[in-house]
Amino acid sequence: MSPETAPARRCNPETARQLERSCRLCGRALAGYVNPLTGTVLAPALCPACEAEEQERREQVKLAAREEQRRQRQQQIRELMAGAGVPPRYLDCSLENYTGWKPQGRPTALLGPCGTGKTHLAVAYLREWIIAHGSTGAWFQRAGTLVRQLRQSCSASAFEPEDSLIRRLGQDQRFLVLDDLGAEALTDFTLQGIYDILDLRYSYTLPTVITSNLDVGQMAMSYGDRFMSRLLAMGEVVELSGEDYRLLLAENRQQREQNEKMH
Ligand SMILES: [Zn+2]
Repeated sequence: MSPETAPARRCNPETARQLERSCRLCGRALAGYVNPLTGTVLAPALCPACEAEEQERREQVKLAAREEQRRQRQQQIRELMAGAGVPPRYLDCSLENYTGWKPQGRPTALLGPCGTGKTHLAVAYLREWIIAHGSTGAWFQRAGTLVRQLRQSCSASAFEPEDSLIRRLGQDQRFLVLDDLGAEALTDFTLQGIYDILDLRYSYTLPTVITSNLDVGQMAMSYGDRFMSRLLAMGEVVELSGEDYRLLLAENRQQREQNEKMH
């Protein structure tokens, strides 16, 4: 049914008076009618071809608006991520653009050699958290920087005293990524600081994602059994190998269950 003929069917042809109309866009002649009962002019403003074009244009405008909205949202997320301490290189890291094997849930520690995408994945979890909760209380912390800050924290000129630093990372940040643990030289003092942060997060059941180039054995050597026991109790520890990841140890889960029973 074309718009030219449509009104004719609604009006009584005996009484409807035909009017000459033209398409608002192309000027093509269109039939218009006056409804004899109401005196209302019934005529399409556009010919079918122009109507189709208009429809197409409206769709394009809608699509462009949606795309602009999406772009703005992405930009907003990038800004929130930057505000949470994520370095520029990782601002666009998401679960969608992570190409390696993904663990089922969100692990507490991602271990494995360089180039396996541990930081990408950890940042992707941070991104998910920020999308769900906003960036307040989400923080990306390089482990090397933390060790330096811990070392400086007991000097008189410290930017942030040790207890404040430990409380901030251990308790105030509701989601923490501790990136690249293990690359730094540790002293008993810095080791204790890192343990205290982990222990606080464990006590407050705060989500934490740690990445490290060390494997579980090396980590136990560097950080000690107490640290490992805490870490394994907090969640799953997975090792990424590049093509694969494996859930570390059935012991992982057993250990956690045991710890849960004890506490
Ligand atoms: Zn037209």
